[in-house]
Amino acid sequence: MNKIGIYYAYWTHDWDADFHPFIDKVAALGFDILEVNAGTIAHMTSEERQSLKAHADDRNIILSHCIGLPHEYDIASEDKAVWENGIAYLGKIAEAIGEMGGGNLSGIIYSSWPATMPEGETDKRPYVERSVASMKKAIKAAEDNNVIFNMEVVNRFEQFLMNTCDEAIAYVEAVDSPNAKILLDTFHMNIEENFIGEAIHKAGDKLGHLHIGENNRMPPGYGHIPWTEVSAALRRINYQGYVVMEPFLMPGGEVGRDIKVFRDMSVDLELDDEARKALLFIRGVLK
Ligand code: MN
Repeated sequence: MNKIGIYYAYWTHDWDADFHPFIDKVAALGFDILEVNAGTIAHMTSEERQSLKAHADDRNIILSHCIGLPHEYDIASEDKAVWENGIAYLGKIAEAIGEMGGGNLSGIIYSSWPATMPEGETDKRPYVERSVASMKKAIKAAEDNNVIFNMEVVNRFEQFLMNTCDEAIAYVEAVDSPNAKILLDTFHMNIEENFIGEAIHKAGDKLGHLHIGENNRMPPGYGHIPWTEVSAALRRINYQGYVVMEPFLMPGGEVGRDIKVFRDMSVDLELDDEARKALLFIRGVLK
């Protein structure tokens, strides 16, 4: 059975947060994993990280880490100072995760988020090539710190470098490191892939992490994602990795703004109850 997690920002309006209460919360709800913001982890002191890790261990919770790199860390940038800054930042995050025993770093770590193709550009290949060249350098920090970098395939409205699983496969093959893998997300796949199950199957052993969410980012169980197809494809590739849900229901704050939640989708819903229900639903789907 895959370990199942949830992203802390389901409950927050800001990206920066104290993760300690969420360790207790997700443990009480029955989850195996709390996914946290890697930027916050990178900016903690070593003592703070040790304390967080000890708390997670105590509650039997695994921490996974996610980030969409801010523009000043865009490793696909034409500006040498920016891509160098990005490589250094990925190194800092990898070391921080390494201090906590290693783990994964997932998200838009191959460029920045959100981003669209610059005005006047028609060919993204130079951006992809710069990103691969930078990632080949950055991945060494992952290798040295027992960290897997999972490249998140996202839809066209959030990024332009990697919108399909095929593009991600080509990217990780070019990076050519056992620590470079793919993150697929059902919310994004619903927009970009011809067939969700087929995309998962193609990723195969390169699939390092899975985000699950409905087409409208409601908790799994509310929308029209083909969960039996997802489950069958995961079984076919013998996926043993983490499955982390990322529902977003609340407008407002940094999270509501960046995720573009423009209506209150939590009306009449109790967030903890919904998380518990979604966990039961997804355990049923994946069994
Ligand atoms: Mn995601």
